[in-house]
Amino acid sequence: MMQVYNFIKKMMLIVCLLCMDITNAQGDQILDGIGETGLIARYLLDGDTKDWSRNNLHATVKGEKITFVNDKLFGKVITLSSETNDYITIPGTAVGNEESISLTGWINLRSIKSGQCFFDFGKSLQSHVITTLIDSNGKNEFSTEIVLESGGYKTKKTVLEAHEWSMFSVVIDVPSKSLRTFLNGKLISETKDIEIELNQLFNNASDGKNQLFIGKLLSSNKSCLDAKLHDFRIYRIPLNKSQIKTIYYNGLKKGDQVVNENERKDDDLEVFSKTTPQLYNKFLIGVSDIAVETTVGFLPKLPRYVKAVYKNGIELSQARVLWSAPKDNTKVLKVGSYTVTGLIPGTDLKSKATVVVKEAKKVFSPNKNLEVFNLDQVSLNTDSNGDNTKFIENRDKFITTLAQTNPDNFLYMFRNAFGQKQPEGAEPLGVWDSQETKLRGHATGHYLTAIAQAYASTGYDTSLQANFLYKMEYMVNVLYELSQLSGKPKQAGSPFVSEPTAVPPGVGKSDYDSDLSIEGIRTDYWNWGEGFISAYPPDQFIMLEKGAIYGTQNTKIWAPYYTLHKILAGLLDIYEVSKNPKALEIAMGMGDWVHIRLSQLPTETLISMWNRYIAGEFGGMNEVMARLYRVTNEPRYLEVAKLFDNIKMFYGDANHSHGLAKNVDTFRGLHANQHIPQIVGALEMYRDSNIPDYFYISDNFWYKTTNDYMYTIGGVAGARNPNNAECFIKEPATIYENGLSAGGQNETCATYNMLKLTKNLFLYDQRGELMDYYERALYNDILASVAKDSPANTYHIPLRAGSIKHFGNPDMKGFTCCNGTALESSTKLQNTIYFKSRDQKSLYVNLYVPSTLNWTEKNIIIEQKTAFPKEDNTQLVIKGKGKFNIRLRIPHWATKGFYVSINGKEQKVDAKPGSYLTLNRKWKKGDVVDIQMPFQFHLESVMDQQNIASLFYGPILLAAQETESRKDWRKVTLDANDISKNIKGDTSQLKFTIDGVEFKPFYETYGRYSVYLNVILK
Ligand SMILES: [Zn+2]
Repeated sequence: MMQVYNFIKKMMLIVCLLCMDITNAQGDQILDGIGETGLIARYLLDGDTKDWSRNNLHATVKGEKITFVNDKLFGKVITLSSETNDYITIPGTAVGNEESISLTGWINLRSIKSGQCFFDFGKSLQSHVITTLIDSNGKNEFSTEIVLESGGYKTKKTVLEAHEWSMFSVVIDVPSKSLRTFLNGKLISETKDIEIELNQLFNNASDGKNQLFIGKLLSSNKSCLDAKLHDFRIYRIPLNKSQIKTIYYNGLKKGDQVVNENERKDDDLEVFSKTTPQLYNKFLIGVSDIAVETTVGFLPKLPRYVKAVYKNGIELSQARVLWSAPKDNTKVLKVGSYTVTGLIPGTDLKSKATVVVKEAKKVFSPNKNLEVFNLDQVSLNTDSNGDNTKFIENRDKFITTLAQTNPDNFLYMFRNAFGQKQPEGAEPLGVWDSQETKLRGHATGHYLTAIAQAYASTGYDTSLQANFLYKMEYMVNVLYELSQLSGKPKQAGSPFVSEPTAVPPGVGKSDYDSDLSIEGIRTDYWNWGEGFISAYPPDQFIMLEKGAIYGTQNTKIWAPYYTLHKILAGLLDIYEVSKNPKALEIAMGMGDWVHIRLSQLPTETLISMWNRYIAGEFGGMNEVMARLYRVTNEPRYLEVAKLFDNIKMFYGDANHSHGLAKNVDTFRGLHANQHIPQIVGALEMYRDSNIPDYFYISDNFWYKTTNDYMYTIGGVAGARNPNNAECFIKEPATIYENGLSAGGQNETCATYNMLKLTKNLFLYDQRGELMDYYERALYNDILASVAKDSPANTYHIPLRAGSIKHFGNPDMKGFTCCNGTALESSTKLQNTIYFKSRDQKSLYVNLYVPSTLNWTEKNIIIEQKTAFPKEDNTQLVIKGKGKFNIRLRIPHWATKGFYVSINGKEQKVDAKPGSYLTLNRKWKKGDVVDIQMPFQFHLESVMDQQNIASLFYGPILLAAQETESRKDWRKVTLDANDISKNIKGDTSQLKFTIDGVEFKPFYETYGRYSVYLNVILK
């Protein structure tokens, strides 16, 4: 044993030396190399039965005399005894609604008493999964059994030794149809071909009607275990062999977890030959070389597609190239030239790029020449058939439920932090806003934005609008009163601390802590410095400065500035639509608090803070502070915005050697939604400071993200490597190699932020590709992220074969980050259909959505009538008169023509897909513009595995409707010259079949689906 242990220690040391950087950067929540999105709950059982994950699924202990004892291997551990009838109950909401499930835990049997069981989880005696250890005859044989009404499945029996520690794991892998058990990191049994969906075992998570026991059977009131236990975990992913091995070895290290990035993952995605050309590349006979210019210091922007020639009559003119992505700019430090070779996946073909590096010329710094319309200037209409569009359906799900919310629930934790009484009827929110969750208050920020947007968007219903106006005023009044308490004496003459930098630890505490429990939370607001507002005391902000990392213990923090960004953005949104002066005053007060604290910190401290995994996640603090500057004209807010520069990502290092500003990809492998809002902020900094670097940072980031990290629905992130569903893949343009993680992809709030970035970039630079992306992600991700009959919405949207969307938060009572941004997305769906130029001379028609624009500045109303995308045409009816340009977007997919007629007369237009065309005339009342843009079917591949592709009809992604889970990609054979030959269906309903399998829009898909297909061209 000792020898093994030493060997393991040595191995760990090697692994750790290689991954030190990551370990330090990411804290312990990429636990054992597994991203926390895969983890449902973790019970260390070292003194209590708290859940150490971020999900607050605290367990309870039942029994006469539960004890914790000291153990040689693990320190403090729990003991359960059947004599005193001890057992553990886990909240029923922990499981259910999951695709697969894995359980792991350490157990040390204290006796070989007969009839012992480890755990029993299920919804009823007819539907549960049970692990027994010693049978009723005292035979020491453990096995796991799935019990179903229709029968069930068992694993092979094996001996679990008593009086020593063993790590037990069970994996119910639904897509692989496999039930596996492991002992001490080794596979001991696999039952194949199990036909099961987890909803047969568990009720869905929100009703919580599951019974989850450790040490007791569902069928009995008596405890069934006589053992010591340690570190019991529940995962929502099917853990693979190497992950279980890692958990085991790391467990032996007595609780010190390391990020084990270097052990090769078990690759459970289908593997294809690297040298077999796939899809259209089968017919590719040549690609062209290219020449690109750049200036000293800046990496060239290499086009991801080059000219290509195909045989057999394939009508394509381009092919995808994979270029290497340097980590710095050493290649371009001098004037000269060099070549880069790009690979064409699956072929021997190569494209050579000759890069000429020239002396720096005048810098490109575009003006913001467009403006958005206010939300109340654009309204959504029913389509030309009189039907509600998906836009209206989703908006109404949110508006209706939002109108019924109780604002006091969203103020609960703020009042709690300030030690105030709760008004009658106030109930705390759950999930990430519950009592002890260190992110509480984040949902309130999203809520402020949502009610502001709902207020501005509901001009069609005065009672709804009044409802949201009331909510805005009420929320602001309470937050204002609380913020006025901070840093001022409780009673005249009592002591207080007004200076934000002088905030002491809580009364009776020797140090700062993040304890938010009812017993432990500090409420001494008079010591918090003037202007402070938050749903928790100031400690987390201060601990971040002092080096605290992300975690659930009271010495660790979540993401204080992330939460604050939501609150401040919400206040400014309310200020924008209602001019409520108190909303601005609260934001300024807290802006000052932040300014005073951060401006005294050395740059190295800031770099360390903003690069700390999750703990340093600050949302768009740079954005909201720059915006506060724009509203108030107070330079200190721009100063503080700049302090949020992510120097490492923006500029490479403190000397600004390279970074995104020089087109170097510095975000590979990083947490996606931690960083996208920082880029949105960089663009806001450009707007207010005119420093061109900020524009390059955001523009370069956008180009790389959408070309090298994007899934076909428009979402990003979902890495297998690093093993974290919330992270960008380890290397750009390797989605098949490193992406498509089992834990899901496309964190929905990341897409929300990508859309925001895209929209804002377009205001500076009217490139068609920006709005092409916007349309893609809006229809195929955001519209697709909402449940059928409620505002419940997705966290990740998984895209492996036969996936299913999981929707949460139907009644707005418990929010994750993505539930928060969903409130915002669905209350502003109309905000990008039209833009105008600042000089009011041009109108941009970006999206083809039934709607009415009231261009009040010009006294013009434009009505857009269409059933798009259920038809491929639209009509603009102009009411009012005046001379202006109408700029129409020609989508990238409109390769079969784009036809425009005015008052029935066809116009000669130069219609290049992926650009805008201009109609310039003196418009008069009743002018009608008809636009037709024939849809066609087309495929979009994963860049490094071309046969894995999605099917589109025009802008709409069509998902194969699956009847059961599956492991392999759905195979589809199509005609190489005309894929539509194999597709039957009804374009007006967007319903199709291929070989009898139904395809429909992803935004109308609520069951199992395949978004990616394995396409063979014949
Ligand atoms: Zn999220």
